[in-house]
Amino acid sequence: MLPFRGFLYCPRCFQKLTGSRSKGRTKWYFYYHCNCGFRIRTEKVHDSFIFMIRSLKPAPEYSRLFQTILRKTYKESSLSSMINQHRTIKKIEELEDHMIAARSLLLSKDINAPEYYKLKWDCQTKMEILKLKIDNAAISLRLWESRLDPMSGALSSLDYIYENGDINQKRQLITLLFKNPIL
Ligand SMILES: [Zn+2]
Repeated sequence: MLPFRGFLYCPRCFQKLTGSRSKGRTKWYFYYHCNCGFRIRTEKVHDSFIFMIRSLKPAPEYSRLFQTILRKTYKESSLSSMINQHRTIKKIEELEDHMIAARSLLLSKDINAPEYYKLKWDCQTKMEILKLKIDNAAISLRLWESRLDPMSGALSSLDYIYENGDINQKRQLITLLFKNPIL
């Protein structure tokens, strides 16, 4: 695997390194190399990366700060979600009123049956969509809540995440940590 493909630059001539593999006697060897002849084994890059992210492990007080920030963000998003839910419930109530009004119009013969059913169907469709919106908001809020603890743990276990992630997760983490090229 070459998770650092495209991220590394040659320390000698500053060109972007490319990734290759070569077959040894019993297994494949992966490495990054440059046109100038520089090359480095992928294991070596891996080890220095792990060493580096381990050194980034935050002190416990920073973990607590991170957790406080996460909880604050969660509270804000749950508050805005509650306000939205409230608005949605009001819209549903309005639609229920429309349906009652349509029924009275039908009874007083101001509208005919097909017109009534069309109105009813419109209201019901809109209501279904709004109810779905409420359900989805509740689900995403619960998801947020369930991720709070894992997220605060993630900051102090970047090495674990890197070592156990697939190639895409590895590359995401590398991108997250290095906006600038790595020499
Ligand atoms: Zn080079």
